[in-house]
Amino acid sequence: MAEISVTDSLTTESSIPILKTRFAPSPSGPLHVGHILAAVQARRLADANAGSCLLRIEDIDVTRTGSREWVDLMYEDLAWLGLTFDGEVMVQSTRFDVYAAALSRLKSMGLLYPCFCTRAEIKAQIAEIGRAPHATLGYQYPGTCRHISAAEAAERIARGDAHAWRLDMQRVQDLIGTPLWADMRRGVQRCVPSAYGDVVLARKEMPTSYHLAVVIDDAAQGVTHVTRGEDLFDATNIHRALQAVLALPVPTYCHHSLLKDNTGKRLAKRDGARSIASLRAAGFSPDEVYRSLHTALANGGVWSV
Ligand code: GLU
Repeated sequence: MAEISVTDSLTTESSIPILKTRFAPSPSGPLHVGHILAAVQARRLADANAGSCLLRIEDIDVTRTGSREWVDLMYEDLAWLGLTFDGEVMVQSTRFDVYAAALSRLKSMGLLYPCFCTRAEIKAQIAEIGRAPHATLGYQYPGTCRHISAAEAAERIARGDAHAWRLDMQRVQDLIGTPLWADMRRGVQRCVPSAYGDVVLARKEMPTSYHLAVVIDDAAQGVTHVTRGEDLFDATNIHRALQAVLALPVPTYCHHSLLKDNTGKRLAKRDGARSIASLRAAGFSPDEVYRSLHTALANGGVWSV
């Protein structure tokens, strides 16, 4: 009988993926306390599970000036707060070719159509049908250009008419049905793609969109758990639909509540007083920032500093 050594039967590789979270700020201004709440949530979930927490810079909006300067300040603020991340930083502005490949795949699947409407035209169309805006996603495009023939669309593109590429959510739904996703706080959710409107996935001045880039990159970075503010809860349905059509893995989500001011209003990014840079300048220590965050969380999310 062949001898079997004990080590032959030891399993050394786990098939359970290591938990990976990420912090994915858009450098459209200085980091503020809301960002730090998101970063801390991601870091803590990773640490509590011997996982890792990655950093991704979501700088696809190349029309914005000064984003380089915000990225530099962000690194300074994160270092000051002692917040560290694992692995390599992913920078979305270096990945437009990856997003373009996904976009052409969606086009070849017949799931995108060019939309030639201007903002003013869309507003007028919506006013005419009297549709109320979606609570967090804003106005939903009424689908006007969905009915333009392929020949007319090709002709208009050839003559240089400005256009955006929209995802045909009804077609998406016909293809994938109503898939599920899980939120750690709210439980299992069913995504009904057609309920979210035909979102824009690309336009001339911005060759990808947040929705497309975020699902591609969460998959590329192997993110297993996405923690982010509950203002993005509805957007996750759009992301779930994209994951289904692009055959991408589906992370677990945790949408945390947002910080508010003492009138109950959500803290806005433009509210410079809550930027980390201004707290630093006002003489706060990192510990005081964390303590204030802790107090705010114990106090229904009200940031009172
Ligand atoms: N980049 C987004 C922001 O700064 C967050 C994206 C996400 O967490 O999915 O608001």
